Amino acid sequence: MYNNFDVVVIGSGPAGYVSAIRAAQLGMKVACIEKWRSSNGVSVHGGTCLNVGCIPSKALLDSSHKYSDALNKLDSHGITLGAVKMDIAAMMGRKDKIVSQLTGGIGQLFKANNVTGLYGTAKLLSNKEVEFASHQGDESIIKASHIILAAGSVPIEIPAAPTDGDFIVDSTGALEFSSVPKRLGIVGAGVIGLELGSVWSRLGSEVVLIEALDEFLAVMDKDIAKESFKIFSGQGLDIRLGARVIETAVKAKKVNVTYQTMDEKQHKEVFDKLIVCVGRRPFIDNLLSPDCGISLDQRGNIVVNEQCETNIEGVYAVGDLVRGPMLAHKGSEEGVMVAERIAGHSAQLNYDVVPNVIYTHPEVASVGQTEAQVKASGRNYNVGVFPFAASGRALAADDSQGMVKMIACEKTDRILGCHIVGPSAADLVQQVAIAMEFGSSAEDLGMTVFGHPTLSEVVHEAALAVNGNAIHKVNRKRK
Ligand code: FAD
Ligand code: AMP
Repeated sequence: MYNNFDVVVIGSGPAGYVSAIRAAQLGMKVACIEKWRSSNGVSVHGGTCLNVGCIPSKALLDSSHKYSDALNKLDSHGITLGAVKMDIAAMMGRKDKIVSQLTGGIGQLFKANNVTGLYGTAKLLSNKEVEFASHQGDESIIKASHIILAAGSVPIEIPAAPTDGDFIVDSTGALEFSSVPKRLGIVGAGVIGLELGSVWSRLGSEVVLIEALDEFLAVMDKDIAKESFKIFSGQGLDIRLGARVIETAVKAKKVNVTYQTMDEKQHKEVFDKLIVCVGRRPFIDNLLSPDCGISLDQRGNIVVNEQCETNIEGVYAVGDLVRGPMLAHKGSEEGVMVAERIAGHSAQLNYDVVPNVIYTHPEVASVGQTEAQVKASGRNYNVGVFPFAASGRALAADDSQGMVKMIACEKTDRILGCHIVGPSAADLVQQVAIAMEFGSSAEDLGMTVFGHPTLSEVVHEAALAVNGNAIHKVNRKRK
């Protein structure tokens, strides 16, 4: 039996555990309930992000990048290696160690902040009560003044390609392959498909991405998407657009895939493994009792307002369960906002400035509006573009593909968006996110001193280019 809490958080992913810690820091008595068990049956905090998402994928992206550099890139620096060998078990072991280090770290943070971490399944009842079934098998009802739902998301399954945990897998399965598939198919050329495709392509798989839409990275700025397509295709990723997977069958240890193109023609491919990466859906299975009264939208998201309040007073929802991009940092900041508002502060997340990154190499990153969105808003604007090929630092690192594109309001010069494909794009776009948060103009960034030689200079030059003042390229003539 548990005493009453000021706040009960359901889910300890980046949205849940961060809200629990922040609420406890603000003096509240907090419990955070988590049902996740790792593949060896151990109860763990951290959710998708730490266990099967952001962290393990980046561990494998970094390992595979180093392998690929050792194979292909060092010669140009005058470094010759002997035979480069790959040890997949060691690579996976390194990834698993990082995951346990970080998931264990949440337990320590909970302890240090007096958050009661509970392992088991929670269900929201009416009257701000939560039914808790612990992993030990006992059941209880926990009462709370405030409840934060942070149950996250799970991969979407499609009838055309049901996962079998062996030949047809989702993103979680693709982080666990014990050998490199010779021929690897990926359904969906979105963020996760591109990241996992990059990992296995660098390790030697022949990768084919089959994407239903006829536009590559439709949510990204068009110029950046076009440049990214060129770069990834050049790396050997075979990206087929306007191609919808309609049937799969596993025969003789091979996956036979049928996909249909826009002209209604059917095509066949045979793979050793198939990864299904067609998006994620809110994880509301068994989370809500029928009489809890929480409203859902058509996509299964819990309906919330800008402050993450649901339609039930005192019940909040954050992270992948609610509208907006399914990103760890968006969920964490929603968690902080909700904890602070419960404590009586007037916190508000700025949804206009949430960076979005694809951790390929080079990375693709964006913040704010795309050119198409600015155009659709009817605002006049200026665009500044600068290529990494003109950056001394990028050339010195032999890593000079891509460009920065910055968009600013014509009237006020305020930065409206920045889109990058290039080395360290994730960290570079963050510089612009900070500037945008402070309401910076392109001229403000142009007047800022950037260290030389750094990749940041490409952002500086793009900001200068917005008003036709770039130094290291010929500026477009203004009207
Ligand atoms: P989750 O992390 O999904 O956590 C929810 C938790 O709630 C889970 O642990 C679940 O077990 C628990 N739970 C659910 N129901 C109950 C219940 N009834 N009782 C108790 N507990 C429950 N995002 C980024 O920002 N950057 C990246 O680089 C990135 N890479 C990714 C790579 C991959 C392969 C994947 C799959 C995702 C990636 N994401 C990335 C997305 C990111 O992981 C999610 O946006 C993020 O984890 C969402 O956080 P959350 O706290 O809302 O939910
Ligand atoms: P994301 O939303 O970034 O995870 O990307 C998922 C991608 O999968 C989207 O671009 C979808 O268009 C794509 N997709 C969904 N269903 C199919 C399908 N049956 N065949 C091919 N691609 C698909």
